[in-house]
Amino acid sequence: MNKYINYFDLLADYDNSKKPTYKELITTYEWKTLRDSIVKRDGNKCSNCNSIASIWNGSFYIRKPTNEEQKASFIKHSLLIKDNSFFTPKFAVIAGVKDDSPTILHVHHPYYILNFLPWEYPSEDLITVCHSCHTDIHNSSVVPTYVDVSRKELVKLTPCESVMEQAI
Ligand SMILES: [Zn+2]
Ligand SMILES: [Zn+2]
Repeated sequence: MNKYINYFDLLADYDNSKKPTYKELITTYEWKTLRDSIVKRDGNKCSNCNSIASIWNGSFYIRKPTNEEQKASFIKHSLLIKDNSFFTPKFAVIAGVKDDSPTILHVHHPYYILNFLPWEYPSEDLITVCHSCHTDIHNSSVVPTYVDVSRKELVKLTPCESVMEQAI
């Protein structure tokens, strides 16, 4: 999975003429720490469509089984019980199934402030959304960028072209 770097180590790779890109900034521990706290606060699910985050098990994403899948597994295992007393129904409960269209959560900035680092925004202004909802948000609207924290004057540029690349 992703490797995170601390911000000052990232800066060490740059001279004064160049700055880290937004895409690089969101690979930092600083961002990951804030991002994880926002996702936790939002219940590990998309605030827009309520999809729960899929879990990376080291090889693939897994998700909670649906009631149907749980029932199907229960029935399959229940049939085994008839032939083999070793199985009991409680072993039939499955914890997770492979997720072929995983829900990946992102943390979205509803606005930007010029020269702010991604983790310098107040937590209450950030929101957890799934990749799909996040794509819709960015496709259907332009996130405003303000000159400063007063959020009165807009800047005409997008520091966050690559926001969709947010790592989980
Ligand atoms: Zn969503
Ligand atoms: Zn966003």
